[in-house]
Amino acid sequence: MSIPVYDVLIVGGGGAGLRAAIAVAQADPTQRVAVVSKVYPMRSHTVSAEGGAAGVIKDNDSAEDHCNDTIGGGDWLADQDAVEAFVEEAPKELIQLEHWGCPWNREADGSVAVRPFGGMKIQRTWFASDKTGFHMLHTLFQTSQQFDPVTRYDEHFVFDLLVHDGRCQGVACIELKTGEVRIIAGRSVILCTGGGGRIFPFTTNAAIKTGDGMGLAYRAGVGLKDMEFVQYHPTGLPGTGILITEAARGEGGILLNKDGRRYLQDHDLGSPLEVSDPRHPQLKSMELGPRDRLSQAFYWEREAGNVFTSDDGDYVHLDVTHLGEKKINKRIPFVRDTALKYVGVDCVKEPIPVRPVVHYMMGGVDTDIDAATSLPGLYAAGECACVSINGANRLGSNSLTELLVFGKRAGMGAAAFAKANPEVAVDALAAQVGDKAARLKSLYSEGREGEASIASIRRTLTSAMETGAGIYRDQARLDALCETLREIKARIKDLRITDRSKTFNTQLVQALELEFMVDAAEAVAFSASARKESRGAHQRLDFKERDDGAFLKHSVAFKSDGDPRIDYKDVSITKWPPAERVYGK
Ligand SMILES: Cc1cc2nc3c(=O)[nH]c(=O)nc-3n(C[C@H](O)[C@H](O)[C@H](O)COP(=O)(O)OP(=O)(O)OC[C@H]3O[C@@H](n4cnc5c(N)ncnc54)[C@H](O)[C@@H]3O)c2cc1C
Repeated sequence: MSIPVYDVLIVGGGGAGLRAAIAVAQADPTQRVAVVSKVYPMRSHTVSAEGGAAGVIKDNDSAEDHCNDTIGGGDWLADQDAVEAFVEEAPKELIQLEHWGCPWNREADGSVAVRPFGGMKIQRTWFASDKTGFHMLHTLFQTSQQFDPVTRYDEHFVFDLLVHDGRCQGVACIELKTGEVRIIAGRSVILCTGGGGRIFPFTTNAAIKTGDGMGLAYRAGVGLKDMEFVQYHPTGLPGTGILITEAARGEGGILLNKDGRRYLQDHDLGSPLEVSDPRHPQLKSMELGPRDRLSQAFYWEREAGNVFTSDDGDYVHLDVTHLGEKKINKRIPFVRDTALKYVGVDCVKEPIPVRPVVHYMMGGVDTDIDAATSLPGLYAAGECACVSINGANRLGSNSLTELLVFGKRAGMGAAAFAKANPEVAVDALAAQVGDKAARLKSLYSEGREGEASIASIRRTLTSAMETGAGIYRDQARLDALCETLREIKARIKDLRITDRSKTFNTQLVQALELEFMVDAAEAVAFSASARKESRGAHQRLDFKERDDGAFLKHSVAFKSDGDPRIDYKDVSITKWPPAERVYGK
């Protein structure tokens, strides 16, 4: 069997993957790059980002301010050397994107427009209407096509990393159209597979976000860092989890419980909302409180029986009717459209049902500041990675920029590694094809009748995650979750796959995704169980305070035969000693 060999092989065609591909092609036009993606690149989750991308550009702003907001917002768990590099490179990357064609919105004087965003005390979020992710991804996609050395493998599902001689040297994937197993070799490999919000039942994340890259790295012995930190967004639609952007509250939308009470006034949203900041007067509205605090307020309202119940889960109301049709159509047309399409509510006339939904995973594949993992030849960037610039809680609009900064760094690092390590053990990799194909075949071969239904395991998994590792956690609930995951790991060995077809076998893909979801879920659950403090998105009812003495550390989960092993790593502190988190949003 002939195996294609690339210098750099990138798994994922979202923002991080495409930025990495361009970086390699620009660093050394003689290098060959492959981008392998389970969906057509423009369908990656990056496309759905609405709000914007952060980067210092205005005179009233500074790198120091952006670092301050990011580090405080992350509850001091971010690595400060990484944050400094990120903040420094962010505006350069955003300007570069403009030169490639990204249509950033403008002020009347022609300068780049910025908007306020959660946790950013100064306005620094660049945006392209309310379709920022779409425009960014489109720009990256069309730019990547200019480079001949970039070859795409669209609709190829990667299910294994190939490690030989202590080095990652390629991937095993299925071409979805034909069902054929392929081995693709790479002198270096970059994982850009995005997050894993789908391990929870209510999430803004696209169906493809099943933590695949995290699982791939984890199985190859690489640690998953800070996985216990999972961000909730307070306003998703019940049922689908589709995001109703913060802009709805920014424009004046209010949250009401089932009795019509503006319930946020009854909850502690953190002191900074009382602080009047002339640069950002909107912060005084309680609906613009921190995402995590707003989600926690929902939890307590539900405990008190003050929320609506439905088959699609519990919810409260987001009311924008008082803004009037004209303003709604002008400022938040996409919100009207989304509510109408997905819950049949015209928000000009009625409130929109909303609930907290999982939005983003701060944790991921443990990398250094240059996106390298502990496995030689393997890099990771974007939401699947944890550098970490987000610490215990990501600030909205930092992650789109993170894709650019660390996508580029990953590309440069992987290109240099490929140059220094030209030999690829093609024969040894070819020998692995048989094993990989056999494992797959065993999953859905003729005559095999597994016991376990994919849908039912998936439901058990996601609902256990919500109960055990949701907005609030405690030891009893985490222990129950870990036990459920042990049971699932036993059951999943006997999955039932009834579809035997080779062409677009979505059932097989779902089975493979479910295995990745279990990997990601166990890393979240066991890391959360071991962290006996409350920090950022990890809130425990039995350990309510942050404990810097014991836990100013990154957790790193390693796969083992039984429960994962949880290790810890120091946080890099450069200039910002830990203080109380008073960042506001
Ligand atoms: C609704 C929504 C709105 C958001 N809004 C904002 C915002 O305004 N600002 C902001 O900063 N952030 C925002 N975020 C977060 C941000 O958009 C994401 O973190 C980011 O886009 C992730 O990009 P990525 O390149 O890491 O991965 P993705 O864009 O998710 O791409 C992952 C890629 O990996 C591929 N892949 C995955 N698994 C496999 C596999 N097994 N085999 C082959 N290929 C695979 C997929 O095909 C895909 O191409 C938002 C997120 C959501 C969900």
